Amino acid sequence: TTTYNIASIPGDGIGVDVTEAAEAVLNKLAETVGTFKFNFTTFDWSSKKYLERGWYMPEDGMQQLSKYDAIYFGAVGSPDVPDHISLWGLILPIRKYNNQYVNVRPTRVLPGTVAPLAQCQKRPQDIDWMIIRENSEGEYAGQGGTTHENSPDTIATEVAIFTRVGIERIMRFAFETAKSRPRKKLTMVTKSNAQRHGMVLWDKVFHEVAKEYEGVVEWDKMLVDAMTVRMVNKPESVDTIVATNLHADILSDLAAALAGSIGIAPSANLDPTRKYPSMFEPIHGSAPDIAGQGIANPVGAFWSAAEMVRWVGQGKLDKVADDFMQAIENVTSNPKTRTKDMGGSANTKETTEAVIKQIDVVFGKK
Ligand code: NAD
Ligand code: MN
Repeated sequence: TTTYNIASIPGDGIGVDVTEAAEAVLNKLAETVGTFKFNFTTFDWSSKKYLERGWYMPEDGMQQLSKYDAIYFGAVGSPDVPDHISLWGLILPIRKYNNQYVNVRPTRVLPGTVAPLAQCQKRPQDIDWMIIRENSEGEYAGQGGTTHENSPDTIATEVAIFTRVGIERIMRFAFETAKSRPRKKLTMVTKSNAQRHGMVLWDKVFHEVAKEYEGVVEWDKMLVDAMTVRMVNKPESVDTIVATNLHADILSDLAAALAGSIGIAPSANLDPTRKYPSMFEPIHGSAPDIAGQGIANPVGAFWSAAEMVRWVGQGKLDKVADDFMQAIENVTSNPKTRTKDMGGSANTKETTEAVIKQIDVVFGKK
């Protein structure tokens, strides 16, 4: 058996509940399949600890993480800590230091979800998207500053950074992703009418890389504002999307909402070079409004776990990940085993136990 060593960072609020649920389900999956095993090490890096000791990660935190095959992350954020402090204290440095320049966000309407678009209530398959978010540059590069603080003349700048290297690698990843999907379509999103430097470079590099995929991947281009309209009005016309850090952050929350619940949406922060560990996390936050109640939907955490299985397996566990998704979908199709945000009656624990049972059902058939 192969052992995968996973650094587990539950973080804050419902991040803790869903990480515990994901570990239980992954252990069950490994035990049932029998050819691999997970060894989780928990890192208590959270806002609670930050308030006690003044730091999120120790100085050698990144060296500690570098020993693991992957990182599993819950959520970070607390009403007692400004959000930019918690984000920059934990999740953004992990993404940056570990070369996780791709954020992959699959979106589908899982059985049992009530998608808000009338069209998707009839044809849930109309939403089958793969959003590729550039994860290292743009407005989230951390550049900018504030002058004349607390004066009527205060000036604050948020400088978006775009590099040819950064654009080229995300375009290549996006074209490869589109190529691997049945419809082989890619939409490249910018705002190059108003943002005339970085976004124009995006256009330019996109066209260069597109040449290598002529006749293989069908592509088009959209401005980000028009893209929000297309996702609502013509969801079936969308397949793979590539966009900047900021634009894709927003588009993927829209995507999650159109698919029915933020509680089911997964994400993978990847270092495609595999030099550093990649990180898997549901896209939702710590949800302070429902934290501690045991009612968080763990499905986004499970789907993220399935993506982690795919990644660490390097092609050998794709079928296991697909079957694991089937077990999850069997649970969401039943109102008794899905959570309230999906119109069901189960709590986190009941949904988790139902998935554990379905793993027996799905894998027992083989
Ligand atoms: P959120 O995702 O935490 O919550 C938004 C709404 O969706 C809430 O009403 C919440 O109850 C609901 N919700 C979210 N996940 C759910 C689930 N699994 N099951 C059922 N309902 C769910 O976003 P927010 O309220 O904007 O942010 C709360 C905190 O989380 C903030 O501190 C924010 O900075 C942080 N945050 C962290 C991450 C991350 O760790 N990657 C991502 C987003 C937000
Ligand atoms: Mn976001």
